[in-house]
Amino acid sequence: MKLNIKHTFTESLPADKNLENSRRQVKNAVFSYVSPKKTKNPKVLHVSKEMASELGISSAETKTNFFKNIVTGNEIYPETKPFAMCYAGHQFGNWAGQLGDGRAINLFEVEHKNKNWKVQLKGAGETPYSRTADGLAVLRSSIREYLCSEAMFHLGVPTTRALSLSLSGDQVLRDVLYDGNPAFEKGAIVARTAPSFLRFGNFEIFSARNDIKNLKILTDYTIKHHFSHLGNPSKETYINFFKEVSERTLQMIIHWQRVGFVHGVMNTDNMSILGLTIDFGPYGWLEGFDFGWTPNTTDRQNKRYRYGNQPNIGLWNLYQLANALHPLIEDAKPLEEILNQYKIDFEKNSLQMMKDKLGLYVDDKNDLKLIQDLEDNLQLTETDMTIFFRNLGNLNEKSSLLKIVEDAFYNLEAISGEIKSRWNLWFQKYAERLQKETLSNSEREEKMNGVNPKYVLRNYMAQLAIDKADEGDYSLIDELFQLLKNPYKEQLKNKKWFAKRPEWARNKVGCSMLSCSS
Ligand code: AMP
Ligand code: MG
Repeated sequence: MKLNIKHTFTESLPADKNLENSRRQVKNAVFSYVSPKKTKNPKVLHVSKEMASELGISSAETKTNFFKNIVTGNEIYPETKPFAMCYAGHQFGNWAGQLGDGRAINLFEVEHKNKNWKVQLKGAGETPYSRTADGLAVLRSSIREYLCSEAMFHLGVPTTRALSLSLSGDQVLRDVLYDGNPAFEKGAIVARTAPSFLRFGNFEIFSARNDIKNLKILTDYTIKHHFSHLGNPSKETYINFFKEVSERTLQMIIHWQRVGFVHGVMNTDNMSILGLTIDFGPYGWLEGFDFGWTPNTTDRQNKRYRYGNQPNIGLWNLYQLANALHPLIEDAKPLEEILNQYKIDFEKNSLQMMKDKLGLYVDDKNDLKLIQDLEDNLQLTETDMTIFFRNLGNLNEKSSLLKIVEDAFYNLEAISGEIKSRWNLWFQKYAERLQKETLSNSEREEKMNGVNPKYVLRNYMAQLAIDKADEGDYSLIDELFQLLKNPYKEQLKNKKWFAKRPEWARNKVGCSMLSCSS
C-alpha cells in the first residue's frame, strides 16, 4: 500500500508545542500531535471499496494486515505524524469553550486523482481534548456513522465519508440511557475521510481567545486550500469566503430536508467549514413526516435540533461564524447582508426542492400554497415521508390518487372523515396542477425518482444491523451498505426495506430515541 502522502495541514498551521498527551487548554495552536492507542485485538469488519479506491488503495490491499493496523491505529504509516485538532463550539446554544478532537485522531493526508483527503480515526484513544471522556467509541455508534456517511454520499448529500469500520477488540463502558446503569460494549473505530475536517468551532476558538494572528493564519490556509477560486487574502476575500460557507451550509441543509435526515446535534463544533454533513451521532431519519421530530433524547425538552428547525439553526450557527470572522473584516454590514440573504435563499431553494419532489417544473404562483397544504396534511396522521414521495411519482390518469400513497399511512383507518376529505381535496388540486406540466407521466416519474429516494437508512434498519453485530453476525452491515449504494434505484430483491417502520421499533432505544452516549 503506497499512498501519496502530503503534509499541507501540519506544515502550514501552528502545532501545539507540548507533545504530552495530557488533557489541557491548548493555546496558539490549530492541532496537537498525538498517537492513537494500540488496541487489543483489531478486526476490520467492513471496508468501503469506493472510498479506498479514491485514496489509491486497491481491494487486495484492504485485506492486508498493514491496512488493518493502520485503520485501527496500531501502526503509523511511514513518515506521518497523527494529530488531533483544537476547536471550540456553541453546544445547544451556549458557548462551551474548548472542545477539540476528543476521540478523533487524524492519521494523514493523501492526494489521489487530483483530490486531497484527510484520513481520520474516530475512537482511537484519548487526546489533549478528551476532557472527562475516554477517547473511545462503541460498535453501535460506529456502525451508525459508517453506514450513514456512505449512504449520504450515495444520496448526493455533501458529507464526510467512511473508509472502514473495525472492532478494536477492547471493551468500552457506556451508560446508554444516562440512568446510572453503565455496561461494557464492544469498542470500535471508524476510519473516516474528508477534504477537511475543519469546523466552525476551529475559527471560533481563536476569536474567543482574541488570538487574531492565528485566526488569520487558519482562515488564509482554508481559503488557499479549499476556496482558492476566491483569490488572495483580503477583507473582500474573507467576506466572499463567509458568503460561500453560508451558501454551502444552506445547500447541505436543503438536502437534509429533501431526504428527511435529522442531524440531531447541530452544535457549531459539528458544522463543517466545507458544508459537509459531519459527526453522525444521535441522528435519525424521518419516518412519519413531522417538523417537530428530533431523534436526540438529550434535546427532548427544547427540540432545538428538530427537523423543521434545521434551517434556522444553520443560520444561527452562521451568525456565530460571522462573529468569529468579524475581527478579520471589521465591518458587520456585509456579514449581515449575507445572513439576510440566507433567509431569502432558503425560502427560494426550499420551494424549488419541494417542487422537485412533487414533479412540478413550470412556474405557478400557487405552488407555495399547494406545498404548505401538503405539509399540513402530512402531519394530520402519521405518514411515512419516504414512501409518500416515492409513490407519488407513480401517479397517472388511471390511478386512484389516495390509493397510490396508501402504503405511506401508518394507520389507514385514521384516513376517514375530515382527514380523508382534506387529502382528497389536496390530490384533486395536485392533479389539476399537473395538467400544466409538459412532461409525460413516465418522464416525470423518472425525474421525481432522482430526488425522492426509495431506500434510506431507517432508524430501525441501523438498529437491526447493530443487534446482529452484537451477536457477532456482521452480515447485515454489508447488506445495508450495498442497498444504500443505490438509494434511488428500484431493487427488486430489497423490497422489504421499502416499508414503514415496524411497530416494535416505535419506542425502542436506538430506533426512535438516541442519546449522545456513543
Ligand atoms: P459530539 O457531541 O460527539 O460532537 O462531541 C462533543 C465533544 O466531545 C467533541 O469535542 C468530542 O471530541 C468530545 N467527545 C465525545 N465523545 C467522546 C469520548 N468518548 N471521548 C473523548 N471525547 C469525546
Ligand atoms: Mg462532534
